[in-house]
Amino acid sequence: MIPVKGYKGAKVAVLGLGRSGLATAAALAAGGAEPLLWDDSPEARAKAEAEGFTLTDLTRNAGLEGVAALITSPGIPHLYPAPHPVIARAIAAGIPVDNDIGLFFQSAADDTWAEMEVPPKVVTVTGSNGKSTTTALIHHILKEAGRPTQMAGNIGKGVLSIDPPQDGEVVVLELSSYQTDLARALTPDVAVFTNLSPDHLDRHNGMGGYFAAKARLFTQGGPDRAVIGVDEVEGQFLAGQLSQGAADDRVIRVSSGQKLEGFGWAVFARKGFLTEWRKGRQVASIDLREIKGLPGAHNHQNACAAYAACRSLGIAPKLIEGALHSFAGLPHRSQLVGERAGVRFVNDSKATNVDSAAKALQAFPNIRWIAGGMGKDGGIAGLKPFLGSVVKAYLIGHSARDFALQIGETPHEICETMECAVARAAEEAEAGEVVLLAPAAASFDQYPNFERRGEDFTARVKALIG
Ligand code: ADP
Repeated sequence: MIPVKGYKGAKVAVLGLGRSGLATAAALAAGGAEPLLWDDSPEARAKAEAEGFTLTDLTRNAGLEGVAALITSPGIPHLYPAPHPVIARAIAAGIPVDNDIGLFFQSAADDTWAEMEVPPKVVTVTGSNGKSTTTALIHHILKEAGRPTQMAGNIGKGVLSIDPPQDGEVVVLELSSYQTDLARALTPDVAVFTNLSPDHLDRHNGMGGYFAAKARLFTQGGPDRAVIGVDEVEGQFLAGQLSQGAADDRVIRVSSGQKLEGFGWAVFARKGFLTEWRKGRQVASIDLREIKGLPGAHNHQNACAAYAACRSLGIAPKLIEGALHSFAGLPHRSQLVGERAGVRFVNDSKATNVDSAAKALQAFPNIRWIAGGMGKDGGIAGLKPFLGSVVKAYLIGHSARDFALQIGETPHEICETMECAVARAAEEAEAGEVVLLAPAAASFDQYPNFERRGEDFTARVKALIG
C-alpha cells in the first residue's frame, strides 16, 4: 500500500466505496488522515462496514464540514451530465476534489527514492481502445527483461494498493478518461496515448472534453517521454504541441498503417512488420505476423505503443521481440480459445462497441461472427464496411433482430443464446474459418458483465472441441 501524504490529522471525505474507494480509505488512514466514507448504495456501505470502516453521511448539509478534500470514484460524475450533489457542494464550498490517481502521484515518491541507484519510474497508458492490452504488454515485456514491475489502475488493483516501488522498478498504470479528467497531480515519466474514438461523451460533454481529459496526462506534469498514437488528428495535434518540431525525439509517434520516417523517433506497423525509426535511420524491424497473442492491425498498434514505451526505458529491441512472442494476450480481447479441424475460435467479448468490433472483424478472414446483446445508441450501421469478411452472423440477445435488420444482405440467423450460436457456428464452419465472438453490444441483457459472456463462450467452445 502507498500511504497518502499531505493529509496527516485532516479529515478527508471519500465518496464511492468500490474497490478503489476502499483502497483509498485504507491508504489515507495509513498516512494519518481521518477518512469519512460514503456511498449512495446500501450494499456498498454494508460491505465497507463489514471490512471495518465507519461511515459518515456526506449527503447531509453538514456532511463536508471541516473536510480538507473530497476523493471520488471514477464512476461518479463530477461535472457532466450533472455533478453528483456531494461533489457539487464541495465545488461550491471550494473544497479540492481529487481521486486516487492524484493521491498516488502526490504520495508515491518518498525519501528512499533519493538513495536508490535507479529511482522508480511510472508509465501511464490512456486512449479509447487498447489500454488494457498495451498496459499488460508493457508489464509483460518488463518482466521478461528482468525489470521489477507492478501493474495497476484501471486494470488489476487500485493504484494505492501497490507495494511501495523498489530500486529500478517500473509501475505501469492504465488510466481511463474519467481518472485523468479529475486527478490533481499527474506526473508520469512516460505517458502513452493509444488512439481516440468517441466514447463516454455524456461524461465529458462531447468529444472536445473527452480529448481534453486524456490530454491532461501529457500537459499537466510534462512526462520525459510521450508515446502518441497519430492515427487520428487529435494524436497528431498532441504530438505536435508537445514537441519542438518533427525532429524532437521526446515524442515517439506510433501508427498502425502509416510510414513515419520524417520524425525524430517513431514506431510504426505496416503489412505486419513493426519498424523503429530514429533520427533518420531504421533501428529495428520485427515480423508481427506470427505473434499469436496480438492478431490484427489494432493489436499491432498496441504492440508499437508498448514497444515504444519499453524502448524509452532502455530495453533492447531483441528482448522486446522475444517478449512479444510470449505474450498470451488478455482474456476476452481477440483471445484464441481453441482450434479444431482448421477452425479457430476467438473470444473478443470486450468488443462492446462498434469501433472495437470493427477492429476484430478486420483482424481475421472468413468469419463466423457471433454478435448481439444490448445494442448501443447509433446501432451497428458503422460496421457495414467491415462485413466483407463475414461468412455468416449468428445473432444473440436483446438486439438480435435489430442487428439482423441492420446487416441486411450478410447471411445470418437468429440464435438468441450463446449455446445455440456456438453450436450452429461450429457446425457450419469450414477449415480456414474463424468463429469470432465480437458482440458490438453490451452484455447486460444476458450476463452480469463482458467477462462472464466471454467465459460462457469459452466454456461452450471447450465442451464442443474438447
Ligand atoms: P481498453 O482497456 O482501452 O478498453 P482493451 O485492450 O481492453 O482496451 O481492448 C478493448 C477492445 O478493443 C477489445 O475488443 C480489443 O480487441 C479492441 N482493441 C484492442 N486494441 C485496440 C486498438 N488499438 N484499437 C482499436 N480497438 C482495439
